Amino acid sequence: MEESKGKVGFVSLGCPKNLVDSEVMMGVLQRQGWEITADAADADVLVVNTCSFIQPAQQESVDTILELAELKKTGKAQRLVVAGCMVERFRGDILREMPEVDALVGTNEIEGIGAACGGAPTNVSANLLPILPQDFFDPRPTAPYLYDELTPRLRTTPRHSAYIKIAEGCDHPCTFCVIPQYRGQFRSRRFESVAAEAQRLGTEGAHELVLIGQDTTCYGDDLGLKDGLAALLTRLAAVARESEHLRWIRSLYFYPNRVTPKLLDTIAAHPQLCNYVDMPLQHASASVLKRMKRGANGDIFLKLLERIRATIPGVALRTSFIVGFPGETEADFDELCAFVEAAQFDWMGVFGYSDEDTNAAVHLDGKVPAKVIEQRRRRLMSLQKRISRRRRRAQVGQEMEILVEGLSEETDLLWQGRLESQAPEIDGKVLINDVAEGLTPEVGMLARVEITAAQDYDLIGRLV
Ligand code: SF4
Repeated sequence: MEESKGKVGFVSLGCPKNLVDSEVMMGVLQRQGWEITADAADADVLVVNTCSFIQPAQQESVDTILELAELKKTGKAQRLVVAGCMVERFRGDILREMPEVDALVGTNEIEGIGAACGGAPTNVSANLLPILPQDFFDPRPTAPYLYDELTPRLRTTPRHSAYIKIAEGCDHPCTFCVIPQYRGQFRSRRFESVAAEAQRLGTEGAHELVLIGQDTTCYGDDLGLKDGLAALLTRLAAVARESEHLRWIRSLYFYPNRVTPKLLDTIAAHPQLCNYVDMPLQHASASVLKRMKRGANGDIFLKLLERIRATIPGVALRTSFIVGFPGETEADFDELCAFVEAAQFDWMGVFGYSDEDTNAAVHLDGKVPAKVIEQRRRRLMSLQKRISRRRRRAQVGQEMEILVEGLSEETDLLWQGRLESQAPEIDGKVLINDVAEGLTPEVGMLARVEITAAQDYDLIGRLV
């Protein structure tokens, strides 16, 4: 038995796309003879996979790095490795300002994690910094990376649910966003590579697969496929039909003007494809959307929502908005509120705009004061809370399929689970407070639930 190279403790921050990168890095490390430990105090090496989408996320990444750096002083850890989006954006700053960090791994270098953990230093003594060439701080970009079905991956989500990254990068010019700057140009995974991974995850017991990317609706554009996502979903529905375990194939991150009739018909045609559409719209005012370089307007979006609801009966709709974008007037915000009232989304996220030094919007005039941004964010969320409460109440009395996930995070007296209309981590859930005679809830079981009550976002149900 090959001797272990040591124990690695991992912290994964940010979105599910970053989580998949962490799972790949852990898989690669295991394959190279390292042990992954959940106990940071017992780790020889600590890795933080960072997020740097917006300022609050950057702050969380910096705080986490400093927290783990403390462990290097007090605990067993010898090395601290920083990976992820913050490395791509601030590689030079981290090297200059965080001497606690021993190695950096960019988003295209994740299969190099072993070398970083094993001692390939990127950090040099402080007095050398001034004389080092610039490209030491900003090395030439490495080849765009995207894992495939043969890449080792240590899954961290429950056995019954898994993310599949079907694409990486983005070619859209949204002026508030810096993601294309560090995740690079859009690139799809090979069609059969995704299908092979889906098959394997099914055999490993996954009931649910969640397809992710910066924009999944562009899938296949670079492979010469027309309506590539619809074609991929058709293939994955066939994989699920053949699978003992696979039941739900869910897609996230649709770009509005890429939602085609073919895509909607495909989702409607296959019971294995969740009746679920996640489509960040970002705003509803034509002038704000124009400044965001996203185009369209509230009326166009309402027609699109109508078409989605007509094509996929009972579809669950999720979206997200940015409030306080430079130039957003009170009238623009009122227009957004009226749109949200008319649209009646099931799930909605709202972000307050923040200047990022390299996003295009940083140069726009009409900056909205932080206090006003926060007020608008709260107003829009409370409007959605009322809508969500009404929509949840309308589900009382219905009986549906539920994926039981375990004891509730809130109280360990109750079990909890999710419906087809509830994505992991971001939507509401079902709290199970009663079980029919002869039934025993189990983690990962698919069962039937009768909805008996509703809260603002969550439902209460009885397993039947
Ligand atoms: S679609 Fe726009 S917001 Fe989304 S990752 Fe691409 S540039 Fe950013």
